Amino acid sequence: MHCFVGKESKDPSLCYLTLSSGGLVAYSESQVDHSALAADLSPRDVKMKRVIVLGTGWAGMSFLKNIDISSFDVQVVSPRNYFAFTPLLPSVTCGTVEARSIVEPIRNIIRRKMVKFNFVRQSVSRLMQQTRKLCHSNDDTVSGKTEILLDYDYLVIATGAQVNTFNTPGVTEHCHSLKEVEDVQKIRRSVISCFKKADLPNLSKEEKIMKLHFVIVGGGPTGVEFAAELHNFVKEHLVKIYPMVQNLVRITVVQSGDHILNMFDEKASVSEKEIVVKVKSEGIVSTISYGMVVWSPCTGTRPVIRNFMEKIRQGKRRSLATDEWLRVEGYDSVYALGDCATIHQCKVMEDISTIFSAANKDNSGTLTVKEFQDVIKDILLRSSI
Ligand SMILES: Cc1cc2nc3c(=O)[nH]c(=O)nc-3n(C[C@H](O)[C@H](O)[C@H](O)COP(=O)(O)OP(=O)(O)OC[C@H]3O[C@@H](n4cnc5c(N)ncnc54)[C@H](O)[C@@H]3O)c2cc1C
Repeated sequence: MHCFVGKESKDPSLCYLTLSSGGLVAYSESQVDHSALAADLSPRDVKMKRVIVLGTGWAGMSFLKNIDISSFDVQVVSPRNYFAFTPLLPSVTCGTVEARSIVEPIRNIIRRKMVKFNFVRQSVSRLMQQTRKLCHSNDDTVSGKTEILLDYDYLVIATGAQVNTFNTPGVTEHCHSLKEVEDVQKIRRSVISCFKKADLPNLSKEEKIMKLHFVIVGGGPTGVEFAAELHNFVKEHLVKIYPMVQNLVRITVVQSGDHILNMFDEKASVSEKEIVVKVKSEGIVSTISYGMVVWSPCTGTRPVIRNFMEKIRQGKRRSLATDEWLRVEGYDSVYALGDCATIHQCKVMEDISTIFSAANKDNSGTLTVKEFQDVIKDILLRSSI
């Protein structure tokens, strides 16, 4: 993970990140006492500006680890009270790594910072860009579900992306996703369940073959990594426990072209036992029977972000557009980072053209050596300020 902190900015220090495979395994306790974290929001300190961070994934945690908490009133809102090391999620599906080894409770991070910040374990449901407020529901056993409004001076949106079903019927009902720790634990149980069912004596050979057909939709790194983990799990462990069915196991990765959508037309669908796809290039409808199917693309926009984007006229985009300081375009106090955002890069040619126009004082269309030297001096002077 690369983290760039404290770049010159009009606003508090910011970081942005990219992830790369491998690296440290974050170890920590798996379960947290939530009550200790769900602190009451204290009355707003007039001296300190309030920064609300949405999300406790890579982007949110990286920001929190680097912000000077003593200078801001920091609130974190997220449905997840732990950070998960996502590159190792596929390994949890097959037990190579334990789930508790790849999560780190927010409490540990708070403790290390040795400064208090408030954590609210909720999903934000609405962002109001004009009033600097956001809204989340609060489930209370006494008063029931109520809407809570929080106000902020700076908002840092780091809510990530969600599984993209491409509106394919049946995906939500019948497919596993590979995004959260709970997802991979379900996958593990499902793989073992398929083997148990296939081992039952009353099943026909065709039914056993179907039960042991594991289909992974999405041939990106996540899908391929999971296929490899599953293959090892089957070959090294499950065949010893279920030797009678070892020759019936099949693992299929469904992908064609450079994007998942390339392979389907709108008729793709998933039912309880089969995936039906129409291969665009050949026009053939193909039916794949499966025992378990994992749907891996994670590029969907979360509803709260989609809703916000529509309000700020970014509705046609797939993620929030920011400037190079990660400010959401047009909103000085709202920042977005991680999978929910894209940096809108300045166009180099436009910059060069502006510099050229400024340097070309006599409007001749060419630069003299003096004009060129003057503009370079000017740039050096500005960049040293
Ligand atoms: C299995 C797997 C393996 C991967 N391997 C790699 C890899 O090897 N290398 C690599 O570079 N990338 C990898 N990735 C991608 C990487 O995990 C993501 O790019 C990264 O998690 C994005 O970070 P993020 O903080 O934007 O979002 P996330 O990490 O998804 O975090 C989003 C946070 O926002 C919270 N949230 C969601 N909705 C709300 C809401 N409404 N209100 C408040 N909070 C909300 C979530 O609970 C979560 O805490 C992998 C992803 C997966 C799934």
